[in-house]
Amino acid sequence: MSVTRSSLRPVPAPGLVSGHTSTVAIDPDLVRALHLVSEDRRGAAADAAAAHHVFQTSTIAALMDSRYDGDLTVGEVMAHGDLGLGTLAGLDGELIIVDGRAFVGRTDGSLSPVDPTTTTPFAVVTPFAPGDPVDLGEMDHRALLARLDALAPATVSAVRIEGRFRRLHLRSVPKQRTPYPPLDVVVTEQAEWEVHDLDAVVVGFRFPSEAAGLEVPGWHLHAMALDHSTGGHVLEADIASGRAWMDATDEVHVELPPGVEMTGADAAMREGIEKAETSPGAPDKEHPAAGG
Ligand SMILES: [Zn+2]
Repeated sequence: MSVTRSSLRPVPAPGLVSGHTSTVAIDPDLVRALHLVSEDRRGAAADAAAAHHVFQTSTIAALMDSRYDGDLTVGEVMAHGDLGLGTLAGLDGELIIVDGRAFVGRTDGSLSPVDPTTTTPFAVVTPFAPGDPVDLGEMDHRALLARLDALAPATVSAVRIEGRFRRLHLRSVPKQRTPYPPLDVVVTEQAEWEVHDLDAVVVGFRFPSEAAGLEVPGWHLHAMALDHSTGGHVLEADIASGRAWMDATDEVHVELPPGVEMTGADAAMREGIEKAETSPGAPDKEHPAAGG
């Protein structure tokens, strides 16, 4: 990791700090593998979008810690990228950003455009700058993730898949009211549904296992129908045929809302985060490790 003015500072105490500050545990291996920059909202506003950069607001650990109000608006986040995912204030559904347009998939299975003034408590975007597309044949979810892994040797990868899906198993979460319950409690009341033989676009990111806390480790994918009839967080995607575009990065800029911090090494939250967010089917240990 190269160190910059606003970069992650080493902090000795591992683990999450309860109380007013939500602290994300960062694995030193991740710090070495990524150029990780933290910034406040002023820094984020001055941080221009750049190809192969990932920008995110807040952290998955802050979500696990019930910080659902959001600091930046969806419009502010989209100044940093045209492809991405996340959620909306109050954990109001699954945010999906495709071609610079934002939509939200809700628990009734619907998909709606998002008002760019809506705040987001967690979102990840990139100005998608992929290489040439790769044709995909018929594969179940596990085979699809293995194929994406083979196509994505980089530490962090963004993906866009467009095609016909034999089956999409999606989920969304219901909007929460204060006092907010933690994310691992919210997902126990998530709505799940399946759609079959659907033309859809799937977008998302793969972060390394060391990113647990900062991000969702493994593949985190959101999908929406091309006819905008439905969308949500991908639990399983069995593809009939399509194409995948990949974009690799090691530059991750994180806007930290007031009271959210990143600090030393920890693995304690990982299981809960994976349970809540990681697309199942491709165990982390099967991912190519950072740097080799
Ligand atoms: Zn998701």
